[in-house]
Amino acid sequence: MAQVAIDAIGKVDYSKGTYAIDPAKLEDALVKYKVGSVLNTPPSILLSAKQWNEVVQSIHNAALKTRLKVPVIYGLDQIHGASYVAGATLFPQQIGQAATWNRALIREGASITAYESRAAGVPWTFSPVLDLGANPQWPRIWETFGEDPYLISEMGVQFVKGVQEPLSSKEKLAVSLKHYLGYGDPKSGKDRTNAWIPEHYLREYHLPPFRAAVAAGARNVMVNSALINGVPTHMNKYLLTDLLKKELGFTGFVVTDWQDIENIAKRDKIARNNKEALMLAINAGIDMSMIPYNYKEFCEDLVALVKEGKVAQSRIDDAVRRVLRVKHELDLFTTPVTTVVSYPKFGSKEFELAAYNTAAESITLLKNNNNVLPLAKNAKVLVTGPNANSMRTLNGGWSYTWQGERTDEIATQYNTILEAVRKKLGDANVTYEPGVVYKPKAKYWEDSVVNIDAAIKAAASVDYVLLCIGENSYTETPGNLHELNLSDNQLALANALTAAGKPVILVLNEGRPRIIHSIEPKAAAILHAYLPGNYGGDALADILTGDVNPSGKLPITYPRYANSLTNYIHKPSDAQLNPQGAYDYSADFNPQYPFGFGLSYTTFAYSDLKVDKPTFGTNDAATINVTVKNNGTREGKEVVQLFISDLHASLTPDVKRLRGFEKVSLKPGESRSVTFKVPMKDLAFVNLNNKLVLEEGAFKVKVEKLETSFELKESKAF
Ligand code: BGC
Repeated sequence: MAQVAIDAIGKVDYSKGTYAIDPAKLEDALVKYKVGSVLNTPPSILLSAKQWNEVVQSIHNAALKTRLKVPVIYGLDQIHGASYVAGATLFPQQIGQAATWNRALIREGASITAYESRAAGVPWTFSPVLDLGANPQWPRIWETFGEDPYLISEMGVQFVKGVQEPLSSKEKLAVSLKHYLGYGDPKSGKDRTNAWIPEHYLREYHLPPFRAAVAAGARNVMVNSALINGVPTHMNKYLLTDLLKKELGFTGFVVTDWQDIENIAKRDKIARNNKEALMLAINAGIDMSMIPYNYKEFCEDLVALVKEGKVAQSRIDDAVRRVLRVKHELDLFTTPVTTVVSYPKFGSKEFELAAYNTAAESITLLKNNNNVLPLAKNAKVLVTGPNANSMRTLNGGWSYTWQGERTDEIATQYNTILEAVRKKLGDANVTYEPGVVYKPKAKYWEDSVVNIDAAIKAAASVDYVLLCIGENSYTETPGNLHELNLSDNQLALANALTAAGKPVILVLNEGRPRIIHSIEPKAAAILHAYLPGNYGGDALADILTGDVNPSGKLPITYPRYANSLTNYIHKPSDAQLNPQGAYDYSADFNPQYPFGFGLSYTTFAYSDLKVDKPTFGTNDAATINVTVKNNGTREGKEVVQLFISDLHASLTPDVKRLRGFEKVSLKPGESRSVTFKVPMKDLAFVNLNNKLVLEEGAFKVKVEKLETSFELKESKAF
């Protein structure tokens, strides 16, 4: 039930950049105290697969000295690929993965992550994030699959299958669904702060992805590090035991987040001391504690709590059984250590192509005035902005190190946007002037002006300006932010360049949507690259020149104003536009770009939206058809999105909800009929009694601009 950090059993030498296991510490933690799990990478140190093999082997050797020789399970944050293993294949971060709207790509990427993680000997990843990316201020929004419960569920299920199926394979891992539950929408927008979420909203919006991923067989769940309605989630028995284990039937084990049992005392001021905090957490349903340092205290306190009758032996048995079950399912008793020699595809071209394809399908074209894109292959371009020549910004946090601050020094063999554009257009056609840079060794949001005048001058001798802006890498609490607007320096650079007269193509490379409304109208074209990973520069260059037709769609609402952060899932009252434009006192849902939006270099026409029947019973499923045609001149991929609105309900219904999507590839002139099967149960909502109910009445069906409707003839409570 105890998990320690790797630096609790070894020494990091920062001057040499090395890590070594300390035999005495290893013996104490693993042999004397029988700690069952180890996590994390040594802070700021990057190990190769072979070095990981050695670490895991030493840990296993220690486990062999214990009476029962139970294998230790190692867990790592393999967040967008095996991101803590040198030379592994790094994919776009989850927000970019979601922007592909391509289930097969998610599954393939997850499967490659598992393979490369197992090459390093690590059988457990703290991934995927299934939190609702609902609050654009939250520093971890880019770690999510976006803001929609259905999209997250669909991607989450593919991810779980890609990583886990079949679990006994030496190429697979256990996932950790995180961070259960309600972590993604803190009231303050700051990481690890209190969320105010009534239970019917928890169930309606936050729970479905976890429910779907548990049903898909997920073997581990990590708990929300923060609080909901004033209750630290780590002591919330209702959520951990009643809902997750009993109602959802979760048979894997529940791990805490970092030091979060101690937080019930230290931070959240409920328990008087760590021992009391431990009692509350274990009794609530925690099976393993990411302690990660005070393991002696944890072990001794837990034994004492059982002896004192404050934690039942049966609770311990249940927790241990859950942990052992997963170790057994992973076949760790037979093969506790896997080694890179058996994984010839580690870091291969085949894997690289999958990461490239995911990046290419994620990048989202948000604006393309007068078809300024794609560029001619001999176009002359000024590449500028703080994100133009940085592998760090392409990858974001959880890349080689926690905050991703070493990526420029490590990922040298991959192409930044500047390098990829140079390869594509030729050195002679590309000029580089950064204008603004991120300050080295500073806070992630700090940037400084290098020379805006030099950038303006360079713009005079090119055809286009490629302005790469956004954010530097960060994650978790260090990624908190006070100001959602794009930084003053970057706005100044954008304003100066858009005034210089050449068409400006804006590239957004950022973890959360930074406000750009003052410069957006002045840009000729806008591409959102999210955090596309090591092949993001190449994918972007291919899109700029038309070798790839963009097909990404926003998995979030891109807000226009910092005080208008409403998601696409909202109530009618959030979106009342005053038709007269006089007293615009009403709430105004007017995002910069809506959820699901993204352009292509070709155009698509929709027709023949049909529901198979005018009326349905509660046990029926509707068959909904629509035809989509590529009526442009290039081959392209389109995401057909099905939205359904409940027109009246006893709890004000959302304006619309995504209920299906399909990504199709169409040649010029080609058309396809796309079919969605929607069980009526999927249209049910959670009422004020926290019960799932279907209410009779009319539903509106919407695909692109087409609309139709049907009637539900009866009501039902599930
Ligand atoms: C994060 C988790 C992560 C864990 C282990 C925590 O601080 O919130 O997402 O899995 O650390 O690194």
